[in-house]
Amino acid sequence: MESESDIGALLSKEMFFSGTQVNYYVICKTKLWLFSHFVTMEQSSDLVSYGKLVHETSYGGDKKKEIVIDDRIAIDFIRKGDTLVLHEVKKGKRLERAHRYQLLYYLFYLAELKGMEDVEGEIDYPLLRKKEKVELTDALKEEIKTILKGIQEVVALPEPPRPSYLRICRKCAYFEFCWV
Ligand code: SF4
Repeated sequence: MESESDIGALLSKEMFFSGTQVNYYVICKTKLWLFSHFVTMEQSSDLVSYGKLVHETSYGGDKKKEIVIDDRIAIDFIRKGDTLVLHEVKKGKRLERAHRYQLLYYLFYLAELKGMEDVEGEIDYPLLRKKEKVELTDALKEEIKTILKGIQEVVALPEPPRPSYLRICRKCAYFEFCWV
């Protein structure tokens, strides 16, 4: 079992990654590399803007707040009694696995670095009127560690990994970079 200092090293300044990077690692390594090297085409993507709109408007009536942790992670939460419930709002379930690991990473970060174990995760799909709970098990903690090491390896590559065509490519902000 790794000590707290091992975890600290894993999440050190050099190896810290955002939830978005965890998400992109799961979706596409090329996307992860491009995003991490500041080839940001995200602003011009209508899809990304739409996602932000969903995020801003769908839960306006709830008592939802945002926490920023270590200037690294910004996430919405709701307090239910003594339990903190982290909320991610997503448009659709096509990238469900990536959404799940992104939220698991936040739970991992809070548990391992902040000692906050009494935290739950919930992904909301307001357009589908569905919510899903996300729970961090010991096995999933190990998976998150593997993902963080994997992200480090991809980001350290001198050039982006060769793209493989995916169903999501046409809606990806980097489509022109990869395929035109
Ligand atoms: S266009 Fe496709 S291959 Fe290229 S970064 Fe986006 S998802 Fe990856």
